[in-house]
Amino acid sequence: MNSSWEVLVVGAGPAGSAAAVAAQRAGLSTLLIDAQPAHRDKTCGDGLTPRAVRSLRSLGLEHVLPAYRNRGLKLHGYGGSVTAPWPDGDFGAEGSAAPRASFDAALMEQARQAGATVWHDCPATAVSVGPRGLESVTTPRGEIAPKWVVVADGVRSPFGKLLGREWHKGEVYGIAARSYCSSPLSREPWMHSHVELRDAAGAIQPGYGWIFPLGEDEGAVNLGCGALSTEARPAKVNTKKLLSEYAAQQRKAWGLGPEREVTSALLPMGGAVSNVAGPNWALIGDAAACVNPLNGEGIDYGLETAVLAVQLIGTGADLTLAWPDALRSHYGEAFTLARTAARLLTYPQFLPVAGPVALRGPAGNRLMPAAARLMGNLVTDGDRDLLARAWRAASRLASTNGPLWDLS
Ligand SMILES: Cc1cc2nc3c(=O)[nH]c(=O)nc-3n(C[C@H](O)[C@H](O)[C@H](O)COP(=O)(O)OP(=O)(O)OC[C@H]3O[C@@H](n4cnc5c(N)ncnc54)[C@H](O)[C@@H]3O)c2cc1C
Repeated sequence: MNSSWEVLVVGAGPAGSAAAVAAQRAGLSTLLIDAQPAHRDKTCGDGLTPRAVRSLRSLGLEHVLPAYRNRGLKLHGYGGSVTAPWPDGDFGAEGSAAPRASFDAALMEQARQAGATVWHDCPATAVSVGPRGLESVTTPRGEIAPKWVVVADGVRSPFGKLLGREWHKGEVYGIAARSYCSSPLSREPWMHSHVELRDAAGAIQPGYGWIFPLGEDEGAVNLGCGALSTEARPAKVNTKKLLSEYAAQQRKAWGLGPEREVTSALLPMGGAVSNVAGPNWALIGDAAACVNPLNGEGIDYGLETAVLAVQLIGTGADLTLAWPDALRSHYGEAFTLARTAARLLTYPQFLPVAGPVALRGPAGNRLMPAAARLMGNLVTDGDRDLLARAWRAASRLASTNGPLWDLS
C-alpha cells in the first residue's frame, strides 16, 4: 500500500491535469494517472471559449495555448448568417482552439512541472471503500492509499462508476463526430456553426455542424457535427455519415482536404449525473457531466471544477454533500435553463420553424449574438442586456427540472 501522495487524480485530460497543478500549488503532494499513453487523442471540436482562456490565464498556464486567437462565432442557416463576437466582459474577448492531443499533453506537462508525479498507461481498476470514504485504489503499479481522490476520468467515467456514479439518459445528451481537414482558411478568426444540416438528398437532418479553424501552425480546421438526444427522442442520425456529407457541402468554400481522423463520441451534459462525491472523493469535468447542453463545450468547466474541487479539499470538508452543493451553486441555474432550451432542440419540428426567424432580419441580428453568449457561457452578472435578464429569470422558473448532481 503506497501512501506517498495526499491527492490521487484519476484521468489526465484538461480537468485532471488542472487539478494536479492546483493541488501541487496548494501544497498537496499529487499523483496524476491516466489509462492511456501520453499524447492520446480525444474526440473534441478543439474550441476554447474566452471562459477557458481565462481559466488557463488564472492558473498561469496561458502559455500552453497556441498563438491563434478567435473573435467569436458565426452562425449560418435558414437563409441567414449572424456574427456574434465574444463580448468584452469579465472573461475577455479572446477565444482559441488547439488539437486535443497536443493541448492535453502540454497541460499534463505543466502538472509534472508543478511537481506532480505523472504515470501514463496506468488505469485505476478497482477501489476499496470504508466508513470514512475511499481507502485505496488499485492500479497496475500497485495499491495507492491517498487522503483525497479527484476523479477526472471523462465522459464514460469507468472509475466513477465503481464509486456509484450514475448518468441520467432521460436528460439531454449529445452525439457527435469530428474530423480534421486541411484548409487555406485555417487562420480565419471566427468559429463557424451551421444549424441547418441537410443530407446528400437535401433532406433536413437533426443536428448542427461546426468548422473551427486551428490557426496557421496546424494549417487545418476541426470539422464536425452533432445532434442532441434523449432516451424518449433519440436522434436518428449517423454522425460519421452526416459529417462526410457536411464536409462535401463545405469543401469548395473552405478549400477542404479529405477528412481524416474521423471519430465519434457521446456527451452527457448539464450535470445529469448522480453520486458525484463521497467523504474524500469528488468527480470533476466530464465525469460530473459538466458540459454546456447548448453547445457541447466542456473544457472550461473541466478547468474550473478542478480548481473548485481542490479549494474544497483544502478546507478539509466532507465532500459528500459539499461538492454537489458547490456544483449546483456555481452552475445549477445556467445548466438547468440550458437543458430546457436544449430539450426544445430535440423536437425535429423546432429548428425549421424557429431557425428562419432567428437567423434572418433585424430580430436575428439582435437575438443571435446574445444567444451565442448563452452558448459560450459568457453571460455574467455584469451583462445587462435583455437576454441576460431573461436567462436569469427563466432559470429561476426552471429550477426544478431533472436530476442535477443528486444523491440517488
Ligand atoms: C465531438 C465533441 C466535440 C467537443 N467539442 C468541444 C469544444 O469544441 N470545446 C470544448 O470546450 N469542449 C468540447 N467537447 C467537450 C470536451 O471534449 C470535454 O468536455 C473535455 O474533454 C472534458 O475534459 P475531462 O478532463 O473532464 O475529460 P477527458 O478529456 O475525457 O479526459 C479523461 C481522461 O481520463 C482517462 N481515464 C479514463 N478512465 C480512466 C481510469 N480508469 N484510470 C485512469 N485514467 C482514466 C482517459 O484516458 C482520459 O485521458 C466536445 C466533446 C465531443 C465529444
